[in-house]
Amino acid sequence: MRDLFGAELRWFQHIEETAHRVFQRHGYGEIRTPILEELEVFKRSVGESSDIVNKEMYQFTDKGGREVVMRPENTAGVVRAAIQHKLLTSNDPVLFYYIGQQFRYERMQAGRYRQFWQIGAESFGVATPESEAESLLMLYSFLQELGLKQLRFSINSVGTPASRPAFHAAFRAFFAERADRFCEDCHRRIESNPLRVLDCKNERCQAALEGHPVITDHLDEASAQHHARLKALLTDLSIPFEENPRLVRGLDYYTRTAFELLSSDLGAQSALLGGGRYDGLTKHLGGPEVPAFGWAIGLDRLAMVLQQIHGEASFTPPALLIPLGDRAATAALKLARQLWDAGVALQLETRGGALKKAMASANRLGIQTVLILGEGELDGGTVTVKHMATGEQESWPLGEMASKLASH
Ligand code: AMP
Repeated sequence: MRDLFGAELRWFQHIEETAHRVFQRHGYGEIRTPILEELEVFKRSVGESSDIVNKEMYQFTDKGGREVVMRPENTAGVVRAAIQHKLLTSNDPVLFYYIGQQFRYERMQAGRYRQFWQIGAESFGVATPESEAESLLMLYSFLQELGLKQLRFSINSVGTPASRPAFHAAFRAFFAERADRFCEDCHRRIESNPLRVLDCKNERCQAALEGHPVITDHLDEASAQHHARLKALLTDLSIPFEENPRLVRGLDYYTRTAFELLSSDLGAQSALLGGGRYDGLTKHLGGPEVPAFGWAIGLDRLAMVLQQIHGEASFTPPALLIPLGDRAATAALKLARQLWDAGVALQLETRGGALKKAMASANRLGIQTVLILGEGELDGGTVTVKHMATGEQESWPLGEMASKLASH
């Protein structure tokens, strides 16, 4: 877990502002759910067999004896909230986005944190490929507005729970022929959750998968049409993508589309975001059966990529107003108030003391414009302005401060 401030936080703020603007333009509304949720919410959604639930949750018993968890992801909370507030009972689409911190007790690695931030969007109530194209287009615009250029989605279809047994049978037969080449975890997965073998991180397993049966060859007719339609829409919209037959979302309630986006700036293995269709989840969490599609992007990683592309987020410290003496201190507070109310950015020196000390601070803080208000200035109705880069000094009438600072 880390503290965020300075240049890095400025990237966070820029990303968040862009997210609010782009998502609201698409008709999505923000949702903020609590950081603590009942354990059951994640057991039933993320799944008891997942690493997140098994090893990575900050989980404890609260003073009322409830088993609670600091959320490791936000989809489950959004679905829980949508059910609780009966938002899924009509046939109308429900479109939400969120920005929030998530907690996972992960192994320490570069770019991997135990408190990290995700931005995500979820749409409920629409099962069409058009709704997926719309959501992906929104995501694509968001990333483009942030200045990311090398974007290419990886997509796949995992079919439906009904069509999956056909693939499982073909895949288990393939696995059995070369079982000795797979890791122990994969031997467990092939029994409990065969799709998960496909995204095993072990390089030997990935090599052993060469020539494996492909899920999209075993889709039911409707899923195959859905997948073809989504690909046609993405092509028409000039959204770059490639098919990745090893991209899976391994739980039962995931249906059809799965996708992710890798960023070359983060190294080969690092996903920037992931998402897909999860038509079965609302029912699984005790609500009505409603189709759903969503994704989550890592804000920490996105900020890292932006910093690599654009360098430090630009920031100009505001002008600093330094009063000299008690009378000037009162006048400076009043002047600063007028300027703040007029929307001018200004920092006020409130320590009192010598000008020399205040000027030395201004230098260290990188302040470019220093405004000095002393007895002489007060009597003359002016402020002395010092431009730090050139050392030049001039005198501005008090009445013109707002306009001069705004155009400065
Ligand atoms: P997931 O919820 O695991 O599908 O992750 C979605 C995105 O969240 C990933 O692509 C990462 O960008 C980000 N993410 C997940 N875990 C972490 C973490 N521990 N630290 C930083 N970012 C993370």
